[in-house]
Amino acid sequence: MRPLQIYIHIPFCVKKCAYCDFLSFAADEKMKRAYIGMLLQEIEAWQDRGDESISTVFFGGGTPSVLPAEAIAAVLEALKKKFTFDRDAEITVECNPGTLTADKLRIYRQAGINRLSIGLQSAQEEELRLLGRIHTWEDFLESFRLARQAGFGNINVDLMSALPGQRLAIWRDTLEKVLALAPEHISAYSLIIEEGTPFYGRYQEDARRRERGEECQILPSEDEEREMYRLTETLLEEHGYARYEISNYALPGFACRHNCGYWERREYKGFGLGAASLVDHMRFSNTTDLHRYLEGNWEGEAQERLTREEEMEETMFLGLRMREGVSFAHFRQQFGVEMETVYREVLQKLERQGLLEQTKETVRLTERGTDISNYVFAEFLL
Ligand code: SF4
Repeated sequence: MRPLQIYIHIPFCVKKCAYCDFLSFAADEKMKRAYIGMLLQEIEAWQDRGDESISTVFFGGGTPSVLPAEAIAAVLEALKKKFTFDRDAEITVECNPGTLTADKLRIYRQAGINRLSIGLQSAQEEELRLLGRIHTWEDFLESFRLARQAGFGNINVDLMSALPGQRLAIWRDTLEKVLALAPEHISAYSLIIEEGTPFYGRYQEDARRRERGEECQILPSEDEEREMYRLTETLLEEHGYARYEISNYALPGFACRHNCGYWERREYKGFGLGAASLVDHMRFSNTTDLHRYLEGNWEGEAQERLTREEEMEETMFLGLRMREGVSFAHFRQQFGVEMETVYREVLQKLERQGLLEQTKETVRLTERGTDISNYVFAEFLL
């Protein structure tokens, strides 16, 4: 059987956060019902290859937990009808505090969902308000408690550092509050000021200064951002979490298999508005136009057959995101050629610069390489 990962996009949120450029928006119940109906049709119509086994399913968004739990269960049921599932498949639902109830969580469990990813972002009320989040820290505590009570033993908490006005001590306080709850997994990303968001209007000048390495007025400077990153790593490692990817930490055995599959370039099929897929060396995405999607025209226009060179590039810059790096054997197996043959000069240069290091089996980022990972990744373009 061929392993396949499934991504389901649920684009609905209670309201838009001030920094968010994801494909997400508020919608009424009628719209949500119509969307789920179309999602079920899309799954039903997919021409599967008959020999796939589903290793992971990830309901992302948006905020999947704004839907009635029965809708999520129905989508999962449709997937189970269509595909064979691994016995231990990892099935994750992204959710936000303030949208979870004991009933919802019970239905999730009954449907076979075994992992939750809760978007907290900050444990500080002021920061939550600034971000435009719909919830308080207390709401999060209640959601977390309910999730544990419902039997969820694999929970991720999403956090965000380098927020406007944030200082190291405040970030430490957020980390410590979350660590006290001992979730199995923590994702800690730095805020990126995205074009087209309210934050862009407010902080774009500062973001540019930060890019140029200059002093910022409201955003933490590049150096402060790096200090926050180091603090995250140190504090989490002291509490038993291993950093297995640039921004992801897990207790032993709880790395997110779905995301690891993405960084390892395993095949995935996305269903729902704008969802991307990588199947049979083809990359394609669904339409991002909700009206087209609801009319049953879910296919997008962009479809691209990846060249061997593009696959090599992706193998390197996605794989290097992982702490363990890219294995020489994996590269050889995939492409029938040694990594050193394709990338000899780049590897030597980056090693000389102290950005990469080699073990017998793998090549991986050093601490300095992690700090300027985008520069390192660009070096692997062929
Ligand atoms: S909850 Fe997430 S997806 Fe929804 S608006 Fe906020 S950041 Fe965007």
